[in-house]
Formats: sequence, structure tokens, C-alpha cells
Amino acid sequence: MLVRKGVVFENWARTFKCSPELYLEAESEEDVYEAITLARQRGKRIRVVGSGHSPSDLACTSEYMLNIDRLNKVISVSDGQNRIISVQAGMKLHQLNKALAVRGWAMPNLGSISEQSISGAISTGTHGTGIDYGILATVITSLTLITSDGISHTLTAESSPDYFHAALCSLGCLGVITRVSICAVPAFRLACTASPMPFDEVMEKWDEVVSGGEHARFWWFPNTDQCTVVKMDKTDEPISKTSSWFKQTFLGYYAYEFSLYLSTFFPGMTPFLNRKHFSIFFSKPSRTVDDSVNVFNFDCLFRQLVTEWAIDVKQAPEALRQLKEFIDTTPGVIAHSPVEVRFVKGDDIWLSPAQGRDTCYIGIIIYLPYGKAVKHKKYWAAYEKIMMDLGGRPHWAK
Ligand SMILES: Cc1cc2nc3c(=O)[nH]c(=O)nc-3n(C[C@H](O)[C@H](O)[C@H](O)COP(=O)(O)OP(=O)(O)OC[C@H]3O[C@@H](n4cnc5c(N)ncnc54)[C@H](O)[C@@H]3O)c2cc1C
Repeated sequence: MLVRKGVVFENWARTFKCSPELYLEAESEEDVYEAITLARQRGKRIRVVGSGHSPSDLACTSEYMLNIDRLNKVISVSDGQNRIISVQAGMKLHQLNKALAVRGWAMPNLGSISEQSISGAISTGTHGTGIDYGILATVITSLTLITSDGISHTLTAESSPDYFHAALCSLGCLGVITRVSICAVPAFRLACTASPMPFDEVMEKWDEVVSGGEHARFWWFPNTDQCTVVKMDKTDEPISKTSSWFKQTFLGYYAYEFSLYLSTFFPGMTPFLNRKHFSIFFSKPSRTVDDSVNVFNFDCLFRQLVTEWAIDVKQAPEALRQLKEFIDTTPGVIAHSPVEVRFVKGDDIWLSPAQGRDTCYIGIIIYLPYGKAVKHKKYWAAYEKIMMDLGGRPHWAK
């Protein structure tokens, strides 16, 4: 085990940092036991860090930080029809995607990126979209957790349903997850269609939007009445995608960040930017076909603050109407694009924000162009109040 002092940890968005007393890097599962023994003997707490992609300070600690990046091996693969792969828990999702692809398999669903570790992703209830698909943790068939007494527990829904459902989304608080088994599906392609639709029409056709595609989501552009509704469905069609460096990278990344930076001096520009963002990129329908990972994942651009709450899917139109009303009628509120709306099947994982109900996640974003702070507290306080009043639950990582 490598033991370092003086390490400063920063999350991906560089919005939180901490200086753990010791930074421990496990090179093997034995090292995890050693780290736990060391911490127990010295009366210290251990916080495991995955990829550090949580937008909040969830991974931060002033005590011992344990990095398990090197525990990233495939342990075993089932040879039957059930497509179970067991991996060490420090494996990143992009490594897992590759390990699955070489076997002709894939994850049934993914969030917007695959940079997270598999254990970090499940520990916070990370989700993708699709009303018939649960959060990522719902594809885990067993996990191995080493608790603070140094005992290893292999948990499944059959052998220990309570511990299993508690551990599946446990924020690093129950112990160190060292292994997980995942139920994969045959590799598949997705046809992704994006169609502009007015906000009011999305609200009126709510059920159609939620279940219109196998994986559906929509983005609403604040200060406009416009959304883009995205449907992703399995297809056997060949890959077809168009990409323009000028549009996607120059305008969509560099010019957008620069414009957002200018808007920090002239906040009145923000509604104009939101309208332009919609009209340049999303006002025309589009259709692409690609391997599932390339459709689920996309470029999340630059440094940002995000908050996301989960709400009963039936309550979400009311929440969105209230949020729109707040933004439209409150002077000086800066709301960047887009507000992202996704859907998740209810589950029985104790701390899952989707526990017990089909769920709609509403995510709001404030970009930090070139790292510059942008006023967001009034906007977020109003959003959080709306969500809390309607029975919302926060995303654990955001
Ligand atoms: C650009 C971007 C896009 C994102 N997109 C989505 C999205 O589409 N959907 C979504 O739901 N979320 C999304 N997130 C949030 C992200 O999925 C979560 O924050 C996730 O937890 C990050 O995983 P990580 O490996 O970086 O974990 P970290 O942030 O490093 O840690 C998260 C938590 O997991 C615990 N943990 C990590 N490994 C272990 C382990 N082995 N044993 C026990 N506990 C452990 C940590 O202690 C900590 O409490 C996104 C974040 C970013 C920055």
C-alpha cells in the first residue's frame, strides 16, 4: 500500500478540495484490509474516493482517504445466458464498458458520462434515463463490502436482502466496496432522435414524453418556452452521425464558455444566450445512430455547479411549471441552459432517491466559465424549496 501525506484532493469541477491526513493507495484487496486496520488502530475514519466526480464535497475528508483505482480487474465472467461479470470495485465505468464490449455485452443504461468508478457511481445512486430502467445500482447482483471491523461481507438480494439493499447506495458510510457483480445485456445500438417542442406541449403530453422512447429525456432552456425532447431506442441500423467541429467544439464549447464568461460582467445577456443556445443547437430535429455508450454519454462541457432532485414522476410537471414561473418573474436570476429532465423506474434500495416510486430527476446547472463564480444561491434556494414542498429527494452526489 502506498501511503502519502500532504495530498490535496479536488473534485472534478474543482469546486471542493480537502487535505486528508493520510492518502492511502491500495494496490491489492489485502491493502484495503491493511488500510482499515491502520485506521481502526488510530481511531480514524476512512473515506474511499472513486473518480472524484461528485459535484458536492461528498468524497472529501480531513482523515484518511483511500484510493482504490488499481483495483480495476475483471474477476470472473459467467458463461451462461445471464451475462454476469464480476469486477473489482475501483474499475471505472469506461473500463467496464470496454470489458463488456469485447464480450459483445453492454450496460443496459448509463448516465451522461463513464468517468466514474463503478463503486462511486452506485454509492450515490447515479442514474441514467428510461422509465423502465432503475438507477445504475439496480444492475448489481452482488457486492463485497469490507466493514470497519475488517470483515468481508458478500451480499446478494437472496442471501441478505436488507444489508444488500442498504449497501447498494451507501455513500461510502458502511464500509469499503471491493467487488461487484453486474448483470449486463447484449451489446446494442441506439437511434437517438431529438425534437424541439414547446414547454407547454411537453407538460400537456407528459405521459407520452416520459414513455415515448425506451430512454427518454428532455432539456428545457430557461428564459425560453422551448425544450428539446430526446428519445433513444434500440435499433439494428448502421451507425450514422454527423459532427461538425465548428458547431460542436468551436461554437458549442469554446464560444459558449467565452459567452458565459462575458455574461458574468453583463448578466442581462443570459436570456439571450439561452435563446441562442436553443436556436443554434436544438431548434431543428436531429437523428443519430450509434453504439449505446456513445449515445448515453455526451460531453458535459466545462466546470460547473449542479444540483439535482428526484421527485415522483407525476409531480414533476407541477415542479417544472413552478420553476419556470420563478425564473420568468424574478428579476436578476441567472439560470443557465439546460434544465435536464430524466426518468427512472422506482426501486427498493433503501437510500435510493427513486426508492418506492417511479421518479423524475430535474437537474439544474450553473457553469463556472474559466472558473469564475456565478451568483446562484437565490435560484437554487427557490428550486430546492419547490422540490422539497413536492416531496423531492436530493441526488446524494450533487
Ligand atoms: C460531468 C459529470 C456528469 C455526471 N453525470 C451524472 C449522471 O448522468 N447521472 C448521475 O446520477 N450522476 C451524474 N454525475 C454524478 C456522479 O455520477 C456521481 O457523483 C458519482 O458518485 C461519481 O463517482 P466517483 O467514482 O467519481 O465517486 P466519488 O465522487 O469519488 O465518490 C462518491 C461517493 O462514493 C463513495 N465511494 C466511492 N468508491 C467507494 C467504494 N469502493 N466503497 C465505498 N464507497 C465508495 C465515496 O466515499 C463517496 O461517498 C455526474 C458528475 C459529473 C462531474
